[in-house]
Amino acid sequence: MDIVEKLICEHKLSKEEFALLIGLRQDPGVCERLQKEALRLRRQHFGNDVYIRGLIEFTNICKNDCRYCGIRKSNANLPRYRLSEDEILSCCEAGYGLGFRTFVLQGGEDAFFTDECLVPIIRQIKERYPDCAVTLSIGERSYYSYKALREAGADRYLLRHETADKEHYAKLHPKGMSLRHRVNCLLDLKNLGYQTGAGFMVGSPYQTDECLAEDLVFLAELQPEMVGIGPFIPHHDTEYADCPAGSVETTLFLLSVIRIMLPRVLLPATTALGTEAADGRERAMSYGANVVMPNLSPTDNQEMYKLYDGKIGVGDTAQESMNKLKEGLKAAGFNIVIERGDYPT
Ligand code: SAM
Repeated sequence: MDIVEKLICEHKLSKEEFALLIGLRQDPGVCERLQKEALRLRRQHFGNDVYIRGLIEFTNICKNDCRYCGIRKSNANLPRYRLSEDEILSCCEAGYGLGFRTFVLQGGEDAFFTDECLVPIIRQIKERYPDCAVTLSIGERSYYSYKALREAGADRYLLRHETADKEHYAKLHPKGMSLRHRVNCLLDLKNLGYQTGAGFMVGSPYQTDECLAEDLVFLAELQPEMVGIGPFIPHHDTEYADCPAGSVETTLFLLSVIRIMLPRVLLPATTALGTEAADGRERAMSYGANVVMPNLSPTDNQEMYKLYDGKIGVGDTAQESMNKLKEGLKAAGFNIVIERGDYPT
Protein backbone atom coordinates (compact mmCIF):
# COMPACT_ATOMS: atom_id res chain seq x y z
CA MET A 1 0.00 0.00 0.00
CA ASP A 2 1.49 3.39 -0.91
CA ILE A 3 1.22 6.41 1.37
CA VAL A 4 -1.79 7.98 -0.38
CA GLU A 5 -3.68 4.70 -0.25
CA LYS A 6 -2.76 4.34 3.43
CA LEU A 7 -4.18 7.78 4.25
CA ILE A 8 -7.35 7.03 2.29
CA CYS A 9 -7.86 3.67 4.06
CA GLU A 10 -6.78 4.58 7.57
CA HIS A 11 -7.55 8.34 7.76
CA LYS A 12 -4.27 8.96 9.57
CA LEU A 13 -0.52 8.53 9.20
CA SER A 14 2.47 8.69 11.52
CA LYS A 15 4.38 11.97 11.78
CA GLU A 16 7.13 10.58 9.53
CA GLU A 17 4.57 9.46 6.95
CA PHE A 18 2.80 12.82 6.98
CA ALA A 19 6.17 14.54 6.44
CA LEU A 20 6.85 12.21 3.52
CA LEU A 21 3.43 12.94 2.03
CA ILE A 22 3.91 16.70 2.45
CA GLY A 23 7.24 16.32 0.66
CA LEU A 24 5.28 14.99 -2.32
CA ARG A 25 3.00 18.04 -2.55
CA GLN A 26 4.40 19.04 -5.93
CA ASP A 27 3.80 15.63 -7.44
CA PRO A 28 0.78 16.12 -9.75
CA GLY A 29 -0.22 12.43 -9.50
CA VAL A 30 -0.28 12.52 -5.68
CA CYS A 31 -2.21 15.83 -5.61
CA GLU A 32 -4.76 14.53 -8.08
CA ARG A 33 -5.45 11.35 -6.12
CA LEU A 34 -5.83 13.27 -2.86
CA GLN A 35 -8.08 15.87 -4.46
CA LYS A 36 -10.29 13.22 -6.05
CA GLU A 37 -10.81 11.42 -2.74
CA ALA A 38 -11.35 14.68 -0.83
CA LEU A 39 -14.00 15.77 -3.32
CA ARG A 40 -15.66 12.35 -3.16
CA LEU A 41 -15.89 12.56 0.65
CA ARG A 42 -17.09 16.16 0.53
CA ARG A 43 -19.87 15.12 -1.88
CA GLN A 44 -20.73 12.05 0.22
CA HIS A 45 -21.27 14.09 3.38
CA PHE A 46 -22.33 17.52 2.11
CA GLY A 47 -23.27 17.16 -1.58
CA ASN A 48 -22.51 20.44 -3.33
CA ASP A 49 -23.68 22.49 -0.34
CA VAL A 50 -21.64 25.37 1.00
CA TYR A 51 -22.35 26.57 4.54
CA ILE A 52 -22.04 30.29 5.16
CA ARG A 53 -20.99 31.94 8.43
CA GLY A 54 -21.50 35.63 9.05
CA LEU A 55 -18.28 37.00 10.50
CA ILE A 56 -18.65 39.88 12.96
CA GLU A 57 -15.24 41.31 13.86
CA PHE A 58 -16.42 43.05 17.00
CA THR A 59 -13.15 44.28 18.51
CA ASN A 60 -9.62 44.79 17.20
CA ILE A 61 -8.22 45.44 20.68
CA CYS A 62 -5.90 42.64 21.78
CA LYS A 63 -3.70 42.05 24.81
CA ASN A 64 -1.52 39.62 22.88
CA ASP A 65 1.51 40.31 20.76
CA CYS A 66 1.55 37.44 18.25
CA ARG A 67 4.46 38.37 16.00
CA TYR A 68 2.61 37.74 12.72
CA CYS A 69 -0.67 39.51 13.45
CA GLY A 70 -1.70 42.98 12.28
CA ILE A 71 -3.89 43.64 15.34
CA ARG A 72 -1.13 42.69 17.81
CA LYS A 73 -0.98 44.87 20.91
CA SER A 74 2.19 46.71 19.96
CA ASN A 75 0.99 47.84 16.53
CA ALA A 76 0.65 51.51 17.44
CA ASN A 77 -0.32 52.49 13.88
CA LEU A 78 -3.69 50.81 14.04
CA PRO A 79 -6.78 52.75 15.11
CA ARG A 80 -8.70 50.58 17.57
CA TYR A 81 -12.46 49.98 17.86
CA ARG A 82 -15.09 47.99 19.70
CA LEU A 83 -18.63 47.38 18.45
CA SER A 84 -21.46 48.04 20.90
CA GLU A 85 -24.10 45.43 21.68
CA ASP A 86 -26.52 47.30 19.39
CA GLU A 87 -24.00 47.32 16.55
CA ILE A 88 -23.39 43.58 16.93
CA LEU A 89 -27.14 42.92 16.92
CA SER A 90 -27.58 45.09 13.79
CA CYS A 91 -24.94 42.98 12.02
CA CYS A 92 -26.94 39.86 12.96
CA GLU A 93 -30.18 41.43 11.73
CA ALA A 94 -28.67 42.30 8.36
CA GLY A 95 -27.03 38.87 8.16
CA TYR A 96 -30.23 37.01 9.00
CA GLY A 97 -31.97 38.80 6.13
CA LEU A 98 -29.21 37.65 3.78
CA GLY A 99 -29.67 34.01 4.79
CA PHE A 100 -26.99 33.58 7.46
CA ARG A 101 -27.88 31.03 10.16
CA THR A 102 -24.51 31.13 11.94
CA PHE A 103 -22.92 34.25 13.40
CA VAL A 104 -19.23 34.20 14.27
CA LEU A 105 -18.18 36.72 16.89
CA GLN A 106 -14.46 37.18 16.37
CA GLY A 107 -12.05 39.57 18.01
CA GLY A 108 -8.79 40.23 19.74
CA GLU A 109 -8.40 39.28 23.39
CA ASP A 110 -10.08 42.41 24.71
CA ALA A 111 -10.49 42.60 28.49
CA PHE A 112 -13.54 44.83 28.07
CA PHE A 113 -15.52 41.80 26.90
CA THR A 114 -15.88 40.02 30.22
CA ASP A 115 -18.33 37.15 30.66
CA GLU A 116 -20.78 39.63 32.22
CA CYS A 117 -20.60 41.63 29.02
CA LEU A 118 -20.69 38.73 26.53
CA VAL A 119 -23.34 36.53 28.16
CA PRO A 120 -26.22 39.00 27.53
CA ILE A 121 -25.03 39.56 23.93
CA ILE A 122 -25.03 35.81 23.22
CA ARG A 123 -28.41 35.41 24.95
CA GLN A 124 -29.90 38.26 22.88
CA ILE A 125 -28.69 36.73 19.61
CA LYS A 126 -30.06 33.30 20.54
CA GLU A 127 -33.38 34.80 21.69
CA ARG A 128 -33.86 36.83 18.54
CA TYR A 129 -32.61 34.11 16.18
CA PRO A 130 -33.35 30.75 17.80
CA ASP A 131 -32.69 28.96 14.52
CA CYS A 132 -29.12 30.28 14.40
CA ALA A 133 -25.81 29.04 15.79
CA VAL A 134 -23.33 31.30 17.55
CA THR A 135 -19.63 30.67 17.08
CA LEU A 136 -17.08 32.45 19.23
CA SER A 137 -13.50 33.17 18.24
CA ILE A 138 -12.12 35.27 21.04
CA GLY A 139 -8.97 33.49 22.06
CA GLU A 140 -7.78 31.90 25.27
CA ARG A 141 -10.06 32.15 28.33
CA SER A 142 -10.57 30.15 31.52
CA TYR A 143 -12.60 26.93 31.68
CA TYR A 144 -15.22 28.81 33.73
CA SER A 145 -15.49 31.54 31.14
CA TYR A 146 -15.92 29.02 28.31
CA LYS A 147 -18.55 27.29 30.50
CA ALA A 148 -20.49 30.53 31.12
CA LEU A 149 -20.46 31.40 27.41
CA ARG A 150 -21.55 27.88 26.47
CA GLU A 151 -24.40 28.06 29.00
CA ALA A 152 -25.44 31.41 27.51
CA GLY A 153 -25.96 29.58 24.21
CA ALA A 154 -22.67 29.61 22.27
CA ASP A 155 -22.54 26.53 20.05
CA ARG A 156 -19.09 26.55 18.50
CA TYR A 157 -15.61 27.93 19.19
CA LEU A 158 -12.75 28.57 16.81
CA LEU A 159 -9.28 28.60 18.34
CA ARG A 160 -6.54 27.80 15.88
CA HIS A 161 -3.66 26.06 17.61
CA GLU A 162 -1.41 28.01 15.14
CA THR A 163 1.35 25.36 15.17
CA ALA A 164 1.63 22.09 17.06
CA ASP A 165 5.44 22.29 17.19
CA LYS A 166 6.49 23.70 20.57
CA GLU A 167 9.64 25.40 19.29
CA HIS A 168 7.88 26.85 16.27
CA TYR A 169 5.12 28.14 18.56
CA ALA A 170 7.73 29.89 20.71
CA LYS A 171 9.23 31.60 17.65
CA LEU A 172 5.88 33.02 16.50
CA HIS A 173 4.68 34.16 19.91
CA PRO A 174 6.10 36.24 22.76
CA LYS A 175 7.10 34.78 26.11
CA GLY A 176 4.04 34.21 28.24
CA MET A 177 2.09 32.50 25.48
CA SER A 178 2.44 28.75 25.22
CA LEU A 179 1.30 25.90 23.02
CA ARG A 180 0.42 23.92 26.13
CA HIS A 181 -2.03 26.58 27.32
CA ARG A 182 -3.63 26.87 23.88
CA VAL A 183 -4.05 23.09 23.65
CA ASN A 184 -5.55 22.97 27.15
CA CYS A 185 -8.08 25.58 26.03
CA LEU A 186 -9.01 23.39 23.06
CA LEU A 187 -9.47 20.39 25.36
CA ASP A 188 -11.68 22.46 27.69
CA LEU A 189 -13.79 23.58 24.74
CA LYS A 190 -14.25 20.01 23.57
CA ASN A 191 -15.16 18.85 27.08
CA LEU A 192 -17.78 21.58 27.35
CA GLY A 193 -19.52 20.31 24.23
CA TYR A 194 -18.60 23.12 21.85
CA GLN A 195 -18.16 22.16 18.21
CA THR A 196 -14.49 23.02 18.36
CA GLY A 197 -12.20 24.36 15.65
CA ALA A 198 -8.41 24.17 15.59
CA GLY A 199 -6.12 25.15 12.71
CA PHE A 200 -2.95 26.82 11.54
CA MET A 201 -1.39 29.14 9.00
CA VAL A 202 0.30 27.59 5.98
CA GLY A 203 3.76 28.99 5.28
CA SER A 204 4.20 30.93 8.51
CA PRO A 205 7.79 32.05 9.19
CA TYR A 206 10.11 29.17 10.26
CA GLN A 207 7.50 26.52 9.38
CA THR A 208 9.02 23.27 8.08
CA ASP A 209 7.42 20.15 6.60
CA GLU A 210 7.95 18.53 10.03
CA CYS A 211 5.94 21.33 11.67
CA LEU A 212 3.09 20.71 9.23
CA ALA A 213 3.31 16.96 9.87
CA GLU A 214 3.03 17.69 13.61
CA ASP A 215 -0.06 19.84 12.89
CA LEU A 216 -1.70 16.94 11.06
CA VAL A 217 -0.87 14.46 13.85
CA PHE A 218 -2.33 16.94 16.34
CA LEU A 219 -5.56 17.24 14.33
CA ALA A 220 -5.85 13.46 14.06
CA GLU A 221 -5.58 13.22 17.85
CA LEU A 222 -7.88 16.13 18.71
CA GLN A 223 -10.61 15.17 16.21
CA PRO A 224 -11.97 18.72 15.99
CA GLU A 225 -15.35 19.44 14.39
CA MET A 226 -13.87 22.40 12.46
CA VAL A 227 -10.43 23.13 11.02
CA GLY A 228 -9.37 26.58 9.82
CA ILE A 229 -6.27 26.75 7.65
CA GLY A 230 -5.16 29.57 5.38
CA PRO A 231 -1.91 30.92 4.00
CA PHE A 232 0.18 33.19 6.21
CA ILE A 233 0.19 36.67 4.65
CA PRO A 234 2.66 39.31 5.85
CA HIS A 235 1.44 42.51 7.51
CA HIS A 236 3.53 45.63 6.93
CA ASP A 237 3.53 46.63 10.63
CA THR A 238 5.00 43.35 11.92
CA GLU A 239 8.54 42.00 12.05
CA TYR A 240 7.53 39.52 9.31
CA ALA A 241 6.64 42.30 6.84
CA ASP A 242 9.18 41.01 4.29
CA CYS A 243 8.48 37.29 4.68
CA PRO A 244 6.86 35.52 1.73
CA ALA A 245 3.20 34.55 1.92
CA GLY A 246 2.22 30.89 2.24
CA SER A 247 1.50 28.94 -0.91
CA VAL A 248 -2.01 28.61 -2.31
CA GLU A 249 -1.20 25.18 -3.80
CA THR A 250 0.11 23.85 -0.48
CA THR A 251 -3.01 25.15 1.27
CA LEU A 252 -5.23 23.34 -1.25
CA PHE A 253 -3.13 20.18 -0.87
CA LEU A 254 -3.51 20.31 2.92
CA LEU A 255 -7.25 20.95 2.68
CA SER A 256 -7.60 17.70 0.75
CA VAL A 257 -5.47 15.81 3.29
CA ILE A 258 -7.58 17.20 6.18
CA ARG A 259 -10.85 16.26 4.43
CA ILE A 260 -9.56 12.69 4.07
CA MET A 261 -8.40 12.56 7.71
CA LEU A 262 -11.63 14.04 9.09
CA PRO A 263 -14.31 13.22 6.51
CA ARG A 264 -17.18 15.13 8.20
CA VAL A 265 -15.18 18.14 9.37
CA LEU A 266 -16.45 21.69 8.79
CA LEU A 267 -13.65 23.10 6.66
CA PRO A 268 -13.67 26.76 5.65
CA ALA A 269 -12.19 28.18 2.48
CA THR A 270 -10.61 31.13 4.24
CA THR A 271 -10.50 34.80 3.31
CA ALA A 272 -6.68 34.57 3.42
CA LEU A 273 -6.85 31.96 0.64
CA GLY A 274 -9.18 34.23 -1.35
CA THR A 275 -6.70 37.06 -0.78
CA GLU A 276 -3.76 35.09 -2.20
CA ALA A 277 -5.70 33.81 -5.25
CA ALA A 278 -8.76 35.48 -6.75
CA ASP A 279 -10.45 32.08 -7.23
CA GLY A 280 -8.90 30.51 -4.09
CA ARG A 281 -12.12 30.02 -2.16
CA GLU A 282 -13.95 28.54 -5.15
CA ARG A 283 -11.06 26.17 -5.91
CA ALA A 284 -10.91 25.12 -2.25
CA MET A 285 -14.42 23.65 -2.52
CA SER A 286 -13.20 20.96 -4.92
CA TYR A 287 -10.31 20.13 -2.54
CA GLY A 288 -12.76 19.36 0.28
CA ALA A 289 -13.68 22.73 1.81
CA ASN A 290 -17.38 23.24 2.58
CA VAL A 291 -17.67 26.55 4.49
CA VAL A 292 -17.15 30.25 3.69
CA MET A 293 -17.19 33.11 6.15
CA PRO A 294 -18.25 36.40 4.53
CA ASN A 295 -17.86 39.57 6.54
CA LEU A 296 -20.89 41.12 8.24
CA SER A 297 -18.86 43.77 10.09
CA PRO A 298 -19.71 47.43 9.40
CA THR A 299 -17.69 48.56 6.35
CA ASP A 300 -15.94 51.36 8.31
CA ASN A 301 -14.53 48.85 10.79
CA GLN A 302 -13.34 46.29 8.25
CA GLU A 303 -10.38 48.50 7.33
CA MET A 304 -9.26 48.38 10.99
CA TYR A 305 -9.48 44.58 11.32
CA LYS A 306 -6.58 43.79 9.07
CA LEU A 307 -4.63 40.78 10.29
CA TYR A 308 -2.55 40.89 7.10
CA ASP A 309 -2.11 43.11 4.04
CA GLY A 310 -4.41 43.06 1.03
CA LYS A 311 -7.42 41.37 2.70
CA ILE A 312 -10.15 40.96 0.07
CA GLY A 313 -13.62 42.38 0.37
CA VAL A 314 -12.64 45.20 2.74
CA GLY A 315 -15.21 47.99 2.29
CA ASP A 316 -17.76 45.74 0.59
CA THR A 317 -21.19 45.54 2.21
CA ALA A 318 -22.36 42.10 3.36
CA GLN A 319 -24.77 42.03 0.43
CA GLU A 320 -21.93 42.79 -2.04
CA SER A 321 -19.59 40.11 -0.66
CA MET A 322 -22.43 37.58 -0.69
CA ASN A 323 -23.31 38.33 -4.31
CA LYS A 324 -19.68 37.95 -5.42
CA LEU A 325 -19.28 34.69 -3.54
CA LYS A 326 -22.58 33.21 -4.70
CA GLU A 327 -21.71 33.85 -8.34
CA GLY A 328 -18.19 32.43 -8.06
CA LEU A 329 -19.31 29.34 -6.16
CA LYS A 330 -22.20 28.68 -8.54
CA ALA A 331 -19.83 28.83 -11.51
CA ALA A 332 -17.63 26.27 -9.72
CA GLY A 333 -20.66 23.96 -9.23
CA PHE A 334 -21.42 24.63 -5.56
CA ASN A 335 -24.49 26.15 -3.85
CA ILE A 336 -24.76 28.29 -0.76
CA VAL A 337 -27.46 26.92 1.55
CA ILE A 338 -29.53 28.67 4.23
CA GLU A 339 -28.86 26.35 7.18
CA ARG A 340 -27.04 26.31 10.52
CA GLY A 341 -24.64 23.83 9.02
CA ASP A 342 -23.71 21.87 12.14
CA TYR A 343 -21.13 19.09 12.28
CA PRO A 344 -22.96 16.00 11.06
CA THR A 345 -23.45 13.46 13.82
N1 SAM B 1 -8.02 36.37 19.07
C1 SAM B 1 -8.64 35.21 18.53
C2 SAM B 1 -7.67 34.03 18.55
O1 SAM B 1 -6.57 34.18 19.04
O2 SAM B 1 -8.07 32.93 18.14
C3 SAM B 1 -9.23 35.39 17.15
C4 SAM B 1 -8.63 36.42 16.26
S1 SAM B 1 -7.08 35.91 15.52
C5 SAM B 1 -6.57 37.42 14.82
C6 SAM B 1 -7.65 34.91 14.16
C7 SAM B 1 -6.62 34.17 13.35
O3 SAM B 1 -6.01 35.04 12.41
C8 SAM B 1 -5.45 33.59 14.07
O4 SAM B 1 -5.79 32.35 14.64
C9 SAM B 1 -4.36 33.49 13.01
O5 SAM B 1 -4.16 32.15 12.55
C10 SAM B 1 -4.89 34.37 11.87
N2 SAM B 1 -3.88 35.37 11.45
C11 SAM B 1 -3.32 36.32 12.20
N3 SAM B 1 -2.36 36.97 11.50
C12 SAM B 1 -2.32 36.41 10.28
C13 SAM B 1 -1.51 36.61 9.12
N4 SAM B 1 -0.56 37.53 9.10
N5 SAM B 1 -1.75 35.84 8.03
C14 SAM B 1 -2.73 34.90 8.04
N6 SAM B 1 -3.51 34.65 9.12
C15 SAM B 1 -3.30 35.39 10.23
